[in-house]
Amino acid sequence: MIIVMKAGVQEEEIQEAVRRVEQMGYKAHILRGVERSVIAAIGDERGKAQLQSLEALRSVERVVPILQPYKLASRETKPEESVIEIAEGIRVGGEKITVMAGPCTVESQEQILTTARAVKKAGADVLRGGAFKPRTSPYSFQGMAEEGLKLLAEAREKTGLAVVTEVMEAQDIELICEYADILQIGARNVQNFALLKKIGQTDKPILLKRGMMTTITEFLMSAEYILSEGNPNIILCERGIRTFETSTRNTLDLSAVPVLQEKTHLPIIVDPSHGTGYWQYVAPMSYAAIAAGADGLLIEVHPHPENAVSDGGQSLKPDKFAELMKNLAAFAQAAGRKV
Ligand code: PEP
Ligand code: MN
Repeated sequence: MIIVMKAGVQEEEIQEAVRRVEQMGYKAHILRGVERSVIAAIGDERGKAQLQSLEALRSVERVVPILQPYKLASRETKPEESVIEIAEGIRVGGEKITVMAGPCTVESQEQILTTARAVKKAGADVLRGGAFKPRTSPYSFQGMAEEGLKLLAEAREKTGLAVVTEVMEAQDIELICEYADILQIGARNVQNFALLKKIGQTDKPILLKRGMMTTITEFLMSAEYILSEGNPNIILCERGIRTFETSTRNTLDLSAVPVLQEKTHLPIIVDPSHGTGYWQYVAPMSYAAIAAGADGLLIEVHPHPENAVSDGGQSLKPDKFAELMKNLAAFAQAAGRKV
């Protein structure tokens, strides 16, 4: 159930309602809006009638059921869009399109610094790069681990870009939090519920990728795992799903963007690199993503894709990335956004 507070109520009144919700045996999550705040009461739905009695409070406008199974991620609970603060001056959601770019894997100081400087110059906001890599083969390079994290932090220092990198295991969370601004949960871990619960206990922004075979409802239930642990800072990422089509690595489901926007208040970005698997399709699908209403992009860029240890074929060279960024402005403007 959600308890919709009246506009302009005092903090003490919100806390009073929270206390009562908790007394009834529910977990209370406050979702603060510009206009009004709501309290989501999560627990046994059979106690609905008891919660309904909160309507008697002067500060409460109404008490209504949340119909969707993803209670905290739902637009019903929070009609206004969430804007996720990443670092000073960098956010996801709102008018500006946020672009995250960089190599699939951190490979060397030279590689990450060259890429960071190039994507910064082209207008990116966030540097991507994996230090812990989920590889299909156990014989493939698994990432530079902490050494890679240090190189990402050095690149942040030198360029002012924020850093996003993947977390694969709960035991690495603390270490990665020391270096990264955003924790990425990859497609393969979207339903690793134990990991989702653990990152939900941090306050870092989370980039949650859709799995290659998760439905939109399942994807939102994964976001719900993180939200229900108390971390509201989630950015969703559509990165392609597996279909019968083999001409692309995945099928980039751009229809997920408006569907998600209808169902959730969380911002949504698109990864056209993994979504298509080929560098030449990355720019057109980036433009299409912005036209569809995406809040940002996650793009693989490598100074020498032919030598990349992973995903070279879908990585843009810096000059192609710069060209994409230049062209993106017109699409952003047409969509009522800016780059
Ligand atoms: C990545 O971003 O490099 C990655 C491994 O992505 P995904 O989890 O979407 O496959
Ligand atoms: Mn990759």
